[in-house]
Amino acid sequence: MRALRLTAWQHEPELLDVDDPEPGPGAVLVRIGGAGACHSDLHLLHDFAPGLLPFDPPFTLGHENAGWVESVGAGVTGLEPGQPVAVYGAWGCGRCGRCLQGMENYCENRAEFRREGCGLGFDGGMAPLLLVPTARHIVPLTDLDPVDAAPLTDAGLTPYHAIKRSLDQLVPGSTALVIGAGGLGHLAIQILTAVSAARVVAVDQSPDALELALAVGASHGVLAGDTAAAEVREITKGRGTDLVLDFVGVDATIALAAAVARPLSDVTLIGVGMGSFPFSFFTVPYEVSLASTYWGSASELHEVVALAEAGKIRAHVERYSLDDAARAYTDLAAGTLRGRAVIVP
Ligand code: NAD
Ligand code: ZN
Ligand code: ZN
Repeated sequence: MRALRLTAWQHEPELLDVDDPEPGPGAVLVRIGGAGACHSDLHLLHDFAPGLLPFDPPFTLGHENAGWVESVGAGVTGLEPGQPVAVYGAWGCGRCGRCLQGMENYCENRAEFRREGCGLGFDGGMAPLLLVPTARHIVPLTDLDPVDAAPLTDAGLTPYHAIKRSLDQLVPGSTALVIGAGGLGHLAIQILTAVSAARVVAVDQSPDALELALAVGASHGVLAGDTAAAEVREITKGRGTDLVLDFVGVDATIALAAAVARPLSDVTLIGVGMGSFPFSFFTVPYEVSLASTYWGSASELHEVVALAEAGKIRAHVERYSLDDAARAYTDLAAGTLRGRAVIVP
């Protein structure tokens, strides 16, 4: 089969021939319906120097996957060929404390096998077939089309985890600020609206992204720039925000987050823009909690899928063929995409 592979750091992806994978004992072979193109892949292609991450190329890209069970390895029960499924992509050891809590994104034995997950060291889903090493990473779907479900496994799951840990902030009258209304951000707005009472304000540098943000539930769209902090403060009647989700993570967006955060609130950094901000007694309002989050847990993915199956959230998807997958990344880099690009092999 053909697969879109990262063959070296700081290198464009290549469509190459690879052997069809076979499921060994305990494994599941998934026929890919959709594989989302995440901005993190752009960081993999362009930004990360060798040695920064605990894994190395070559591997097939694609860490947001859904499709149908093709076949199962010896000992796997309860999954039928043809059944639609989403794939939990953070693949940990399965036996450490964090993995046993379903948080394989924070596996404590990562150093042992030097890979982060599907499409991140292990071969991912930008190919007709994906080998999933264990059935515990499989999340059954009922009504969802795998093309719509694929983005849920990261662009949905990552904001869901970040929102869930701050749910107690999101009481009636509260404001959540989403910086970067792209693949993750447009789902974050919908999740905030579905699970909390917060009013959602979006900031983006792209007017088109702000238009999508308003269409999916944001009450205000604010163009990024020098006046954004004052505009957000004005919207909150001077009180400030209760949760900021920064899906960009450059110096300017973290500074914006610190400038609008209300005392006692949460600021959560999700974007891998590699920006920084000085943390000291007077740079951040009192008792603001700063955290970075990475992906989410397997049980949270079940919850995200349930939200989507209930019709409460829906990824805005732009489809690309496998032949055209490289163009999905150039469009993503150019900022011309809205919502999520999904490769349909
Ligand atoms: P995306 O390209 O789909 O969306 C990014 C959005 O941010 C776009 O709408 C863009 O216009 C906007 N933007 C860019 N620079 C901006 C700026 N300076 N000010 C305001 N808006 C700006 O990207 P995505 O796939 O949603 O990913 C977003 C970020 O999250 C990436 O850095 C990605 O690597 C990261 N990410 C992190 C995790 C995690 O677990 N922490 C998971 C997935 C993605
Ligand atoms: Zn991602
Ligand atoms: Zn583990």
